[in-house]
Amino acid sequence: MLDAQPVTAAKWTDDEPLECVSILPESPNVVTVCFQAPSGRPFEFLAGQFLTLELPVPGGPLYRTYTISSSPTRPKSLTITIKAQPDSIGTRWIIDNLRPGMMLKAKGPGGRFTSTEYPARKYLFISAGSGITPMMSMTTEIYDLGRHCDIVFVNCAQRPSEIIFKRRLEHMATRIEGLDLKWVVQEPDVFQPWTGYQGRLNQLMLGLMAPDYLEREVFCCGPEPFMQSVRDALAGLGFDMNHYHQESFQAPQLEASDPSEFDTGVHEGAQAEIVFEATGATSRCAETDTVLVAARSAGIAIPYGCSMGVCGTCRVKKISGEVHMVHNGGISDEEIDEGYILACCSHPREKVVLDL
Ligand SMILES: Cc1cc2nc3c(=O)[nH]c(=O)nc-3n(C[C@H](O)[C@H](O)[C@H](O)COP(=O)(O)OP(=O)(O)OC[C@H]3O[C@@H](n4cnc5c(N)ncnc54)[C@H](O)[C@@H]3O)c2cc1C
Repeated sequence: MLDAQPVTAAKWTDDEPLECVSILPESPNVVTVCFQAPSGRPFEFLAGQFLTLELPVPGGPLYRTYTISSSPTRPKSLTITIKAQPDSIGTRWIIDNLRPGMMLKAKGPGGRFTSTEYPARKYLFISAGSGITPMMSMTTEIYDLGRHCDIVFVNCAQRPSEIIFKRRLEHMATRIEGLDLKWVVQEPDVFQPWTGYQGRLNQLMLGLMAPDYLEREVFCCGPEPFMQSVRDALAGLGFDMNHYHQESFQAPQLEASDPSEFDTGVHEGAQAEIVFEATGATSRCAETDTVLVAARSAGIAIPYGCSMGVCGTCRVKKISGEVHMVHNGGISDEEIDEGYILACCSHPREKVVLDL
């Protein structure tokens, strides 16, 4: 429901914990959690942005980043829609333990994977699994605003019963012109006939689903091999990749870095030293190590979330020295100018002193 807010109304800020108000099962191992601010303050975010939640799991807090699956046009609450993979720790904790009435600390919103950043007349949204969440937020916003839309909405799932938001999207598509839904599944559910696409999304399917794909702004979100195959398919079809945007949900393994993966910013074999001024600890490490890994080996636990420079949880203040940082939007230029770095994607050069 659209709720008119006075322009001057104070907005939610992340120093106020979020209250879980409801939990809705969506499909196997997938739930939507709805949060409100206890103060009643409205949320301000862009469709497609994310929050990072502090999860009080046994043994210490874990930080997990989740896209806001609801739309900014409904600012009195926000939802996240989460899928627990096998072996999940954080997301599984939410599904098994979070209940209405409980509070969670959150940081954000953040992120630049949003249609507001890349306005276009025609969109092609391509997602797999829980990667549907930013597309849901962006589509709901366009639907709520009543704007004419031209969206080809492609979602891939293992089986039809695992397609998240299928019924809600189908309902929207009956009430708005220009929302064209395309489902692709690996296999049908038992005893449930399936007449949609089946198999792996490929160039042929993309051409059939959106013959005018060359004119569309493409947003893609899903596991990395899936996004790689979409990139390959589009590039092979002559698509201008300046109009392709993607969000990665999956963090690389948190390990000492593979030197071959780094560009000339760090020197293979070179040694570095990180001084943690407040604690008095020192870590001697390689320039190819991240500050996060080096801190951990010195017994200093920097809170972190995505491990790929997206969520901003591991932001720390550098007092002196140089790092080579390749982030993915989790830190602003102003913060960098003030001396902040993201520990997960910064590599020390020679000697670095941190305010930790
Ligand atoms: C910007 C951003 C937005 C995100 N939005 C969402 C969202 O809307 N909904 C959502 O469910 N998740 C989202 N994620 C992913 C989420 O933050 C967690 O990384 C993911 O849920 C796994 O955390 P976990 O605690 O469940 O598993 P962990 O305990 O961290 O890992 C358990 C196992 O799962 C594997 N794994 C970790 N991440 C993934 C993954 N994404 N896919 C498959 N296997 C994985 C690991 O290799 C490990 O074996 C987002 C991540 C980012 C960076």
